[in-house]
Amino acid sequence: MDIKENLDIVRKNIETACAVCGRGTDEVKLIAVSKTKPVSALEEAYADGCRDFGENKVQELVHKYEVMPKDIRWHMIGHLQRNKVKYIVDKVYLIHSVDSLRLAQEIEKEAEKRDVCVNILVEVNVAGEESKFGTASEETLSLVEKIAKLPHIRVKGLMTIAPYVVDAEENRRYFAKLKQIYVDIIHKNIDNVFMEELSMGMTGDYEVAITEGATYIRVGTGIFGEREYAVI
Ligand SMILES: *Cc1c(COP(=O)(O)O)cnc(C)c1O
Repeated sequence: MDIKENLDIVRKNIETACAVCGRGTDEVKLIAVSKTKPVSALEEAYADGCRDFGENKVQELVHKYEVMPKDIRWHMIGHLQRNKVKYIVDKVYLIHSVDSLRLAQEIEKEAEKRDVCVNILVEVNVAGEESKFGTASEETLSLVEKIAKLPHIRVKGLMTIAPYVVDAEENRRYFAKLKQIYVDIIHKNIDNVFMEELSMGMTGDYEVAITEGATYIRVGTGIFGEREYAVI
C-alpha cells in the first residue's frame, strides 16, 4: 500500500468517525507522524495535501524542517529535553509534550530571546502509566496555572498518549478523562490559557479519540506503514 492510498483510508475513517458523533470533519486535524521516515515519504504525504507533520526527535525535526517546504506546520510530539529547546522554538508550530514547569521555563527563556510566542500543549499521563511522560491528571490544573504566567508561551490545550491496547475501546475512558480535565480548565477562565486543542488518538485508536472530542489526531503507522528501528 502506498502513502496516498493509506491517507485516503485514514481520511475516510475520520469522516466516518465524525459522522458517528455529529462533528464536522474540519474540527479534526490530522498530523502525519513521520518520525524515522525518510524525506521522500514526507514529500509523498505533502503532495497529497498533508501540511501537519509530527516528529519526536529534535535533530530529525530540524533536518526535515530545513529540507521540506516552508508552509508545513511542525509538531513536536516527543519528550523534549531542556537543553534542546533552543533548536526548535522558532521552528515548531506546536509543542505537544510539555509536562513540567522547568521545561516551560526553558521554552519561555528561549522564546523571549527570539521574541516569539510558542504554542504548547500540556501532556497528561491520564492512564497513570509509570513508563510514560506527562503530568499526573490531578496536577494538570496547577501546572497550567503556573505556565500561564509565562508571557512567551500560549497554552493551547492538552495532549495524551494512551496505553497500547488491542481493543481501542479500552482507551475511551482515558480520552473522556482528558476531555473532562480540559473542560474543567476552560471553566476556570485562566488568563493566557486558550483551551482549544485536544491532541489524542494514534493509528490504533484515533476513531475512538475523535468520538471523545480529539481536535488533533497523530497518525504514523496508518499513513507511512510500520517503522523500523535499529536493533541496539
Ligand atoms: C509515534 C507516535 C505517534 C504515532 O503512532 P502510530 O501508532 O504509528 O500512529 C503518535 N503520537 C506520539 C506521541 C508518538 O510518539
